[in-house]
Amino acid sequence: MNREFAKDATGVPVGTVALFLNLGSALVALLHNTGGTPADYEWLCLGCGAHSFSPTHRPTARNSANEHAAACRALPWPPHQH
Ligand SMILES: [Zn+2]
Repeated sequence: MNREFAKDATGVPVGTVALFLNLGSALVALLHNTGGTPADYEWLCLGCGAHSFSPTHRPTARNSANEHAAACRALPWPPHQH
């Protein structure tokens, strides 16, 4: 849970290809690692900080990100730390 993800000026992880909204109005980012393989998709919740356990293909990572967003109610606090 303590892995660092590089984030761009918008605050989402570098390589983000889709965003999901969790129940607390925080974003869950689906990202493709820069220079990665087609099996190098991950997700990171900007609300609670949870992320996928290991890189995988996009459909698997997307479904997992969507499932997390559908269950997570976290908002980052204090807000400026994300
Ligand atoms: Zn979360």
